[in-house]
Amino acid sequence: MASKVAVVTGANKGIGFAIVRGLCKRFDGVVYLTSRNIERGKNAVADLEKEGLKPNYHQLDITDKDSLEVFRDYIKNKYGGIDVLVNNAAIAFKHNATEPAAVQAKETLFVNYFSLVSTCDILFPILKNGARVINLSSSCGQLGLIPSKELKERLKDEKLTVPELSDLMQQYVDATQQGTQAAAWGNSSYVVSKVGVSALTNIQQRMLESRDIKVNSVHPGYVDTDMTSHKGPLTIDQGAEAPLYLALDAPDSVRGKFVWHTTKIVD
Ligand code: NDP
Repeated sequence: MASKVAVVTGANKGIGFAIVRGLCKRFDGVVYLTSRNIERGKNAVADLEKEGLKPNYHQLDITDKDSLEVFRDYIKNKYGGIDVLVNNAAIAFKHNATEPAAVQAKETLFVNYFSLVSTCDILFPILKNGARVINLSSSCGQLGLIPSKELKERLKDEKLTVPELSDLMQQYVDATQQGTQAAAWGNSSYVVSKVGVSALTNIQQRMLESRDIKVNSVHPGYVDTDMTSHKGPLTIDQGAEAPLYLALDAPDSVRGKFVWHTTKIVD
């Protein structure tokens, strides 16, 4: 029988690295550590090998469709498909970043939301029936952080489609060009991008239900990584616990949910 395959994006450091570590220990199949930069990825693989673990490696830049297609074709030809996909890669501007809000919005939404959509567009066709998808959202990905009542209603509408959600995300980016985003969306591009990830998860679950694929989003906790300037109290292995729970342990009934780092399901 063909090997089962788990894939983690943005896994050369931080929580993604620890998710690969946990999967290497417990997943019954091959585990792909992927990274946009080959040298950083190979160094990460070497670090795990020193621990006696055996991750596989492939380059994968979620913002680059060619890179995504090369990876998809490689996995499809070698294994037939993917059993576990952890969409971990993301960026965040620092609080003291000097780039204008419009630049931060465009870049953050491009990586964290629009590139996640393209990753899924390209990789979902090779998900095996019964697969699990874990989207790294955040405590910032909660609808309560969006000021506009009307937007909240739209974002949680059970009939919302991916093109409609993408249109809303683009409206936010456009509003930042005019400086008119604050009243409806608030002032954090990271929040908007992660609210987008949470809303996308709900839609993806509806789309993939017939293939028995489980799609959940997760807040990993406040973790000691480069993204948080190492201010988070949790270790990367603690940050990996909830994503690993969804990848390996959650009952099949957990689908289309938002899961907290304590593995508690939240609204
Ligand atoms: P890090 O900044 O430590 O790591 C992010 C990873 O994503 C890096 O490996 C980075 O690669 C990679 N990445 C960025 N852009 C791309 C791209 N275009 N293609 C492929 N990989 C890319 O972040 P964390 O480990 O802290 O965060 C992991 C996830 O958890 C993110 O989705 C984040 O939003 C979420 N999260 C984190 C929290 C925390 O407290 N740390 C809290 C809530 C959510 P490179 O090294 O090349 O830059």
